[in-house]
Amino acid sequence: MSAPRLEIRLDRIHHNAKTLVDQLALRGIGVIGVTKATLGLPEVARELVSAGVTRLGDARIENIEAMRRAGIGCEFTLIRSPMISQAERVVAHADVSHNTEIDVVKQLSDCAKAQGRTHGVMLMVELGDLREGILPADLPAFVGEVLRLPNIEFRGIGTNLACQSGVSPDQENMDVLSSLADSLEATFGVEIATVSGGNSANLGWALSATDAGRVNTLRLGESILLGRDPLHRKALEGLYTDAFTLVAEVIECKQKPSKPWGELGQAAFGFAKTRTDRGLISQAILALGRQDTDPDGLEAPDGMQILGASSDHLVLDTGPTSPAIGSELGFQLNYSALLRAMTSPFVTRAISEGEGRPEDRGLEVGGPAA
Ligand SMILES: *Cc1c(COP(=O)(O)O)cnc(C)c1O
Repeated sequence: MSAPRLEIRLDRIHHNAKTLVDQLALRGIGVIGVTKATLGLPEVARELVSAGVTRLGDARIENIEAMRRAGIGCEFTLIRSPMISQAERVVAHADVSHNTEIDVVKQLSDCAKAQGRTHGVMLMVELGDLREGILPADLPAFVGEVLRLPNIEFRGIGTNLACQSGVSPDQENMDVLSSLADSLEATFGVEIATVSGGNSANLGWALSATDAGRVNTLRLGESILLGRDPLHRKALEGLYTDAFTLVAEVIECKQKPSKPWGELGQAAFGFAKTRTDRGLISQAILALGRQDTDPDGLEAPDGMQILGASSDHLVLDTGPTSPAIGSELGFQLNYSALLRAMTSPFVTRAISEGEGRPEDRGLEVGGPAA
């Protein structure tokens, strides 16, 4: 198999998705599976659907088109506000989109009319994280305009926290979202079908809240794929954190001094970390670099330590072992490293079912795998 490659375990993604779908169903919350970190990879999307995820969301229309072409037949939501220049494609391939600008919704309406379709519109509300969203005070007038547009179905409201500023979802901001839903219904006499509370950062709140109020949807990416809560980057109980492994090949391994010598200026990517003199160490170079992934988001194998990375080289202190030339090492990835590995043309993918889905084999799966 070629390296570098991303090994993807579908059985672990399936387990994570099913676990979250089941846990949230008990609280009346449905899941939109967010596929953007895997570029809408059809195998992963299909796995999410087979695990009980009935709606998929992606930030890019290209990814939604790829999933449709692969024959995945569920409802698709474009979770980034559409570019007005892409309105025609959005209407043709996404069932629903998240919106914050009336000019865009008008364009979606025109395109939907021309195509003889109805397009679903979710309005995103700004609740403090200062990324996308209509300010709550401006929401009623906005909804009034949306309701007048032909071929547009007003689906509901949502919010996105913890992405830009790290504002945590909590009872207070979720209550604001619920009461906005109530008051819009009272004002306009419409039903707000979907109240979309947020992303994986909402799980802490959603799984412990005594009352989820009107929130009936979460959009989950990182928690399903990497088994982590983005607010604290902690492993979520009972989920796999190792559905993805990035594998790279050793191209040099030598005993070298631990401290560089000579006059020190900047390295290729700014100043290098200061290295203390620990005598000779076993240093390996892997054919993996910033063109393949985010090296700061990699976790080295046990007993090894990442010393630095440039465009094409990852330098490791391999501890007491000296891996052979041509041997391979595997790394766990965070969200940023996963995203970069998925978008790099140099990284291939090896998708496997693992040992079969744990629940198909009648196994109870406990905590995250080691
Ligand atoms: C990326 C994204 C999500 C999913 O976020 P995760 O933290 O990966 O769960 C949800 N909603 C919006 C609007 C997003 O952009």
